[in-house]
Amino acid sequence: MEKIVIVGAGVAGVNAATKLVDNGYPGELITIIDMGKSPYERKPSEVMEGFLGAGGWSDGKLTYHTAIGGHLSKYCGEDKAMELMDQVITNFKRFHPKPEEVQCSNPVAEPDFIKPYFGLRLFPVWHVGTDYLHEIGKNWYDYLVSKGVQFEWEAKVTAIDFENNTGTVTVPQSDLQHSFEYDRLMFAVGKSGIDFGKALADQYTFPTEPKPVQIGVRFEAPQEHFQKLIDISYDFKLYRKFEDKGVSLRSFCTNNNAAYVAVEETYGDHTYNGHAKKDMRFRNDMTNFGILMEINGIENPFEWARDVVKKLQFQGTGLYYSPTRVPSSTSEGGEVSAYQIENLKGVEYIMGEYWTYIMDFIEDMKKVFPTLEDDWGIYVPEVKYLAPEPLVDYKNLALAQFDNVHFVGDALSARGITVSGAQGTYVAEDILERFCTVENGSYICEWDNVNGDIVNW
Ligand SMILES: Cc1cc2nc3c(=O)[nH]c(=O)nc-3n(C[C@H](O)[C@H](O)[C@H](O)COP(=O)(O)OP(=O)(O)OC[C@H]3O[C@@H](n4cnc5c(N)ncnc54)[C@H](O)[C@@H]3O)c2cc1C
Repeated sequence: MEKIVIVGAGVAGVNAATKLVDNGYPGELITIIDMGKSPYERKPSEVMEGFLGAGGWSDGKLTYHTAIGGHLSKYCGEDKAMELMDQVITNFKRFHPKPEEVQCSNPVAEPDFIKPYFGLRLFPVWHVGTDYLHEIGKNWYDYLVSKGVQFEWEAKVTAIDFENNTGTVTVPQSDLQHSFEYDRLMFAVGKSGIDFGKALADQYTFPTEPKPVQIGVRFEAPQEHFQKLIDISYDFKLYRKFEDKGVSLRSFCTNNNAAYVAVEETYGDHTYNGHAKKDMRFRNDMTNFGILMEINGIENPFEWARDVVKKLQFQGTGLYYSPTRVPSSTSEGGEVSAYQIENLKGVEYIMGEYWTYIMDFIEDMKKVFPTLEDDWGIYVPEVKYLAPEPLVDYKNLALAQFDNVHFVGDALSARGITVSGAQGTYVAEDILERFCTVENGSYICEWDNVNGDIVNW
């Protein structure tokens, strides 16, 4: 049996631990270290850190398609990817206080009125709701604790020595440090740990896979303008592709009904995202979604995106533009932090030729949704930093140089809850298969033969 350390209690790490203990792996041998707080301590304003990670306080839209949410099927094939995503969705329902309220929207046909301007990606989405995610988090956490899983909260892993299987934890409040040892490590730090992942990749010169840039804006408008499409697809994904330019655009992560724009802080800069509340007391009849460009062929894409984001900041925050509106409030009633600009000249200058794609997208939406006119605003920028993806063994997401170190979730190539959770589950299955055989879909493990004796692991 191995001592497993999971760095990051996000959806990837938590699903991995759940898969292990569900199948009898001793929880006492699993330690999850997170710089955020337990679900009982975490505040709604702590968007990125703590139990269930960014996924835990997100909108809770569980997408169910291998073309959405980052890479999964490239490692394990389509069928396995769907099966892994099923397991993640089942976990969210299992710990849900009212599982019957988890709804699935499953659009089947592309409506004529969006043609010829846009294509529409059709895929099922399970909608859990931000407010229920807090309760799910508590139930899920209690389960893992009851199985013996060890948690270290408000503990930031600041160094990992892959050669000697050790790491260093720094307690941010006090700067106190302690070390840990592992036999197997899961690196599941999500977007908030992207800097740390990059530093380790540089330190150990990991070979990486090439990545595009993903950048754009968060678009917000009254929901009524989009209702016709929302009735067909809750989380609609409009898209268009300019093959010869290496650019594609898509609307991304649509929030409706009780929809709020959220500020993300990465590398000290403000970028935007969105979330929706399930509880109709928060209803504001707004819709928001990202308009994201994927740009291929940029040299040093990561540095390019960081530089553009940095330039799109003013007075310590991101930008807001609208022909008629002002920035909205958060679900807690505060202001969404953004500096309102009067025109888009500066943004156009910074984004260069790529800005035209965004404006054309908005102009064409005005044709498809005729009541929209000037009744919209954009928060600039929204970005998905695709960290240089370390090359991993597709069989178990382990690093080529260190086969006991697995990268999972947004720290690898995921960009969503279901795929991140599925990657964690995929690695957990590989670990289980070291100690178990699979018979008729069930694990028969070393620990099943101990007749209730306490085993000295
Ligand atoms: C506002 C918002 C809304 C979103 N809405 C959706 C949605 O509706 N649907 C969807 O599919 N996706 C959504 N996402 C994206 C989704 O949340 C992420 O893709 C997913 O959470 C990634 O899971 P993960 O486990 O890889 O990382 P995360 O969930 O980000 O978890 C990583 C964890 O690692 C911890 N950590 C980081 N660095 C360290 C360190 N050095 N030491 C210790 N701990 C560390 C963090 O505290 C965090 O808890 C949203 C994201 C945001 C920010």
